[in-house]
Amino acid sequence: MVGEPPCGPALVDDLLSRERSRILGATWAIIRTRDDAALSAVWARLAEIEDAVDLVDLGGMLALNGRHVTHAVDRVRMHWLGECLCRAYLDHEMYDPAKEAAYGHVAIVEEIPVVVHGRPWRPRRICACAACGQRYDVTEDEGHYVWWRWRRAKDVEAEASASVPTPRKVVTNPRSPARARRRRSSPSS
Ligand SMILES: [Zn+2]
Repeated sequence: MVGEPPCGPALVDDLLSRERSRILGATWAIIRTRDDAALSAVWARLAEIEDAVDLVDLGGMLALNGRHVTHAVDRVRMHWLGECLCRAYLDHEMYDPAKEAAYGHVAIVEEIPVVVHGRPWRPRRICACAACGQRYDVTEDEGHYVWWRWRRAKDVEAEASASVPTPRKVVTNPRSPARARRRRSSPSS
C-alpha cells in the first residue's frame, strides 16, 4: 500500500490555506513521505508557511495538532540539511513501524517478545532504515492512543548492559578496623 508521493505544490497550497483540515492533511502527508521533490517544494516556501500556520488555531487534544505541524516542519529542515529522515523517528511518537515498513522506509528485521506481569505484551521491533541502515529498537504502547517509541538499537543495548547489576564488592581486607574490632571482642579460642 505505497501511495503516490505527495505533490509538492499542493502541499504548499494546503499549508498556506489557513484551513485547519487542509493544513493537517498536508502535515501528515509530510510526516509519511521521504519524497525529495515534495519536501524540497515545502522547504522553498517554509518561512511563508510557518508565518501562515502560526495564524491558525490548529486545535486537537493536548494541543497535539500544533506539535504535529512543528514536527513536519522539522522533518522538512532535516531533509534539507541532508540528514537521513529516519532521524525523525526519535522525535515523534506516531511513526508506526508496520506502516514505515509498508512505505519501504524501514525493514522490520526482528521481533522481540515482551512479557509484562507474566503476560505477553506488544513485541519490540528492531527496524533497519532502508536508506542508511541505522537500526532502531521500537516499543509500542497505548495511552489515549497507540504510540511508538523509537530508540537507536545501539543506545538500547548500551543501556541494557550498563544496568546489569555488578556484584557487590566483598571487603576482604583483614586489616579493616571493623574486622579488627570484631576479632578483639570475640572470645579467644
Ligand atoms: Zn536512515
